[in-house]
Amino acid sequence: MSSVPPACSSPPDMATITPPITPKQNTDATLRNVTPKDFVENPDHIPADANIPDNYVSYTLKHQKALPPVTWDNLANELNWLHVAILGMTPVVGLVGAYYTRLRWETAVWSVVYYYMTGLGITAGYHRLWAHRSYNASKPMQYLLALFGAGAVEGSIRWWARGHRAHHRYTDTDLDPYNAHKGLWWSHIGWMVLKPRRKPGVADVSDLSKNEIVRWQHRHYLQLVFIMGVLFPTVVAGLGWGDWKGGYVYAGLLRLVFVHHSTFCVNSLAHWLGEAPFDDKHTPRDHLITALVTIGEGYHNFHHQFPMDYRNAIKWYQYDPTKWFIWACQQVGLASHLKTFPDNEVRKGQLTMQLKRLRATQETLSWPSDNSHLPVISWESYQTQAKDRPLICVAGFIHDVSDFLEEHPGGRHLLTKNIGRDATTAFFGGVYDHSNAAHNLLAMKRVGVLHGGAPHGLEDKTIPPSQRLRIASYSELSASGYSSAALSDGEGLLG
Ligand SMILES: [Zn+2]
Ligand SMILES: [Zn+2]
Repeated sequence: MSSVPPACSSPPDMATITPPITPKQNTDATLRNVTPKDFVENPDHIPADANIPDNYVSYTLKHQKALPPVTWDNLANELNWLHVAILGMTPVVGLVGAYYTRLRWETAVWSVVYYYMTGLGITAGYHRLWAHRSYNASKPMQYLLALFGAGAVEGSIRWWARGHRAHHRYTDTDLDPYNAHKGLWWSHIGWMVLKPRRKPGVADVSDLSKNEIVRWQHRHYLQLVFIMGVLFPTVVAGLGWGDWKGGYVYAGLLRLVFVHHSTFCVNSLAHWLGEAPFDDKHTPRDHLITALVTIGEGYHNFHHQFPMDYRNAIKWYQYDPTKWFIWACQQVGLASHLKTFPDNEVRKGQLTMQLKRLRATQETLSWPSDNSHLPVISWESYQTQAKDRPLICVAGFIHDVSDFLEEHPGGRHLLTKNIGRDATTAFFGGVYDHSNAAHNLLAMKRVGVLHGGAPHGLEDKTIPPSQRLRIASYSELSASGYSSAALSDGEGLLG
């Protein structure tokens, strides 16, 4: 957001936050090719994360010094006053200006158009092109995106993309500059108006440092902010239809407030509101409202799973104008190599979440007693016990139907007739081919297993329909011997 990237934006001083680099790491091939001179002249030549240790996240969180928590006492000292001024003054001056300035329809239209132009500079440019490299853009398109992105006044491409790459890499940790676990206010704007409590995690932007347009924008950032943020929208309205003041107030200031909070919502609302159809490990969520206010960045659960995909919305009817814009640029030859994640993998993520929800439903239901928990009863004992209580044997299981005699749709007599007998054939079509629901209910009445069990070929009769497609975790499958069965299949193939 700032015109001057804050101190935390520079690559972290590795010496202070990581264990000393071992000699072995120093002989890494990437380092060997770089002479000391190269390194001094172009420090970005080596990716910032080339030598981070394997325990980087836990080590850094434990050892890197963080600023103290913000309290009322230290608030004035902990505010980033430049950001407070920009984010606070723009809406105030804009609203006061609007009170004294009539809104002409041409200026209203222009303000909305320029909101989309500068918004796309961020979503299609800063975000999907530069932070994520999800497509290639021709030079003219890159210059336009860099210019309109500057008009959104959210920092240079390089600063923005560096923070955003850290956000993706360390999502929901304190190395994520807009860590959503610190609350909606923090992720929306708090992380800018307060001094960062710690440096964002290491993220490599050496590719951007080599990009001439990114460098050009970074070098001239202050001038570009003034030209694109204020001058250009004012001049268009002034020269176009003589509304200089309206252009300044509506297309300049108030449009900027909307672009700010629209894009800030990608860090706040998109990590707070909606569903997680692809993965619920972290906070990103999908929601139409977020998509509507962020020019299509609202399918954020998808985006965090597949960040190099040029799309946020994968369904044609979902609102993602940034995707449509990139696609349209490809049609006219301005963009190319649009990246999409394999649909097979996308659907796997969806299926996993669907199974998870089904599993939760499964766990709310009662299921028949496990075979191993039921007593094994001989045929003689079954017949003896059936004299005292209404027991019926079906498919190798003994069932107590005492509470069902009056409920049986076919009448009590069909049950009593089978007490102490094997009713398997009668139950499965001999007298009436019972419904799945009946089979499920019958299984709930199991009280024992007949010694010797059910004859072979009765598997579909011993397992009630509701349990034939049960959702079991991998560890449960291994425990029940499913994995060894798979192994012997493999041996069979090899043999
Ligand atoms: Zn995010
Ligand atoms: Zn992203």
